Amino acid sequence: MTTGNAPFVPPGSGWPEDPATPETPAAHDAGEVLRLAAEASDLDDLCARQSVCRACDRLVAWREKVAVERRRAFADEEYWGRPIAGWGDPEPRILIVGLAPAAHGGNRTGRIFTGDRSGDWLFASLHRVGLAARPTSVRAGDGQRLIGARMAATVRCAPPDNKPTPLERTTCLPWLAREVEMVAESVRCVLCLGGFAWQGVWPALRQAGYGLPRPRPKFGHGAEIELAPPPMAAGRGPVLMLGCYHPSQQNTFTGRVTEEMLDAVLTRARDYR
Ligand code: SF4
Repeated sequence: MTTGNAPFVPPGSGWPEDPATPETPAAHDAGEVLRLAAEASDLDDLCARQSVCRACDRLVAWREKVAVERRRAFADEEYWGRPIAGWGDPEPRILIVGLAPAAHGGNRTGRIFTGDRSGDWLFASLHRVGLAARPTSVRAGDGQRLIGARMAATVRCAPPDNKPTPLERTTCLPWLAREVEMVAESVRCVLCLGGFAWQGVWPALRQAGYGLPRPRPKFGHGAEIELAPPPMAAGRGPVLMLGCYHPSQQNTFTGRVTEEMLDAVLTRARDYR
């Protein structure tokens, strides 16, 4: 692997856990995202396609600019510079959904919630409650493993100021909707980290066939609602949708989110039927 200032890691070039190969088809607009997500043959194929997507011009330019310029602390590291695919158990009981990767977190390390302070908090808590094999997630290939859980984002590329536009959210939605559909048979709980993830996951759940409440319940820490499962999981009882404050530095510094609060929500997710 090179440590030169490349804008992204070429698919299939030896990066640990890279789901794609040079032959993986890349989407270049919203229509292609929709088609390539629908045509993915299985979860591995879907994740490979997610990881090479180039549909949003602004986000592609941003993620690659960040990968070339880098933060001083990571100047000697190669940055992933590509979308962050879903990651974790292929038959999860818990699906954890975030908003988008961080510029110097997932966009650097190639793994969701990995390489920034939010991820440090999250993985420590996941490990304490038995949902992660290790207390830290450093980068792809470090041996970390989720146990009965999977992580995905509503937007797969790091956005400037952590703010994807409404169009970017809509463009990226088919990747999440298809992933939700593919794991629906095993999922018992959908855990949303932050209000934007809570908002962003509704259309994906609807497209995957879940029965949704009207009106939609408000987001809050510990907020929960039981959803009617989609047809492929019919007969398995309701699925719990659970809200959790994002373990951002702002939230953890101010005490809005504590270790106990995170552990309590993750324990609720773990123990739900
Ligand atoms: S945000 Fe989603 S749709 Fe847009 S380029 Fe990234 S992976 Fe593709």
